[in-house]
Amino acid sequence: MRRYDVIVVGGGPAGLAAATSARGGGRRSVLLLERDRELGGILNQCVHSGFGLVTFGEELTGPEYAARYVDAARGAGVEVLLDSMVLDVSSGSDGPRVTWVSPARGVESAGAGAVVLAMGCRERPAGALGIPGFRPAGVYTAGCAQRMVNREGLLPGREVVILGSGDIGLIMARRLTLEGAHVSCVAELMPYSSGLKRNVVQCLDDFGIPLLLSHTVTRVEGRRRVEAVEVSRVDDAGLPIPGSGVLYPCDTLLLSVGLLPENELSRAAGAELSAATRGPVVDDSLMTSVPGVFACGNVLHVHDLVDYVTQEAERAGECAGAWADGARGERQLVPLLPGTGVRYVVPQLLDVACMPEELVVRLRVDDVYERRSLVARAGREVVARRRRDILVPGEMEQVTLRREVLLGQGDPGTITIGLEA
Ligand SMILES: Cc1cc2nc3c(=O)[nH]c(=O)nc-3n(C[C@H](O)[C@H](O)[C@H](O)COP(=O)(O)OP(=O)(O)OC[C@H]3O[C@@H](n4cnc5c(N)ncnc54)[C@H](O)[C@@H]3O)c2cc1C
Repeated sequence: MRRYDVIVVGGGPAGLAAATSARGGGRRSVLLLERDRELGGILNQCVHSGFGLVTFGEELTGPEYAARYVDAARGAGVEVLLDSMVLDVSSGSDGPRVTWVSPARGVESAGAGAVVLAMGCRERPAGALGIPGFRPAGVYTAGCAQRMVNREGLLPGREVVILGSGDIGLIMARRLTLEGAHVSCVAELMPYSSGLKRNVVQCLDDFGIPLLLSHTVTRVEGRRRVEAVEVSRVDDAGLPIPGSGVLYPCDTLLLSVGLLPENELSRAAGAELSAATRGPVVDDSLMTSVPGVFACGNVLHVHDLVDYVTQEAERAGECAGAWADGARGERQLVPLLPGTGVRYVVPQLLDVACMPEELVVRLRVDDVYERRSLVARAGREVVARRRRDILVPGEMEQVTLRREVLLGQGDPGTITIGLEA
């Protein structure tokens, strides 16, 4: 069986950055497997600008950002197989094993010193919502509509209602308007938008599209094609208020109601999954609970900005490379836990002695908060603090932990990050 130092699953921005850093300047053999016909992942359909502000200080489109990392991976000598769908990641006696299928060569397998999972995420579909009505044509996920418009030159409809204010829904509200469709409203179940503030301003406010907070779609009318949707107000428990429904005539309903890590392979590989992120539980080297299997990008937890995906993936590739080289001392893992007001933190485990000088912990809060501090405590001692004017669940936050500070705490037992006044 063929053998590589590192195999990376998925050729989006996470997989590209992980594969390039795993190469270690040409020291290691790295195979990148991508099921699509081209590299770049979801960025290929994101033709709007706004990518790369953190990394390059420039506003790039999705394909422009992806192209920089495709060039870097190819330039670094990463071996790439396209049209290759990974079916299984398993653990053998000599490390992980990856099995994939391609139209050209059928089913193949290879062994690896380490594997990086970078399969991205998928959209929550209509079936998960249980909206009453028939199943007429004209109901799309926002990402599916984005692909139709930006890659296939098709307009899904002319009179549109959008359910959910995730970033893809907001971006599609603007995109469809620019293409000549009319977007009557974006209905959001929560009392706040689940997308980035900048997207609410640039994609809805600038185009006069109303954002109906605490609203949901309660009925879809039409048998063959959508003819109208009923939008109702919801109470504090998120339940529709009887009699509040307003009928919006339309031919299209777009759903932007959440992204879920593409975790079938992670689960099949035996990785412990987090109930909060739906991705694998990882330590500070981004290794899952399966030795030698690492994860990064949207398969680990859903990110808003690709720049942070790239940063995380570079570290996953570096650590996977080191693992493949045989660097694996005894680890003393301390749980890193979400405290008051925090929904999740990544990573969830930390080895204080082996962590980098500075470790960026990423997290999301569980509600909207004003003028609070994100405080990390090792036991009772404060080890990091970050003041924020506003915190919203739609915007990922980060706190930097310093090794020197943590080492001064002795055995902290657990480290907790929560909100304090
Ligand atoms: C509509 C939209 C708008 C966005 N706008 C912005 C923005 O303005 N600015 C910004 O910074 N970020 C934005 N983002 C976020 C950014 O695009 C993502 O965070 C980033 O693309 C995630 O990278 P990834 O590599 O984890 O996943 P993906 O890009 O989804 O890549 C995953 C790859 O894995 C492949 N794959 C999956 N399963 C398998 C398998 N079994 N075998 C082989 N290959 C597999 C897929 O085909 C895909 O190519 C946006 C995202 C979306 C969806």
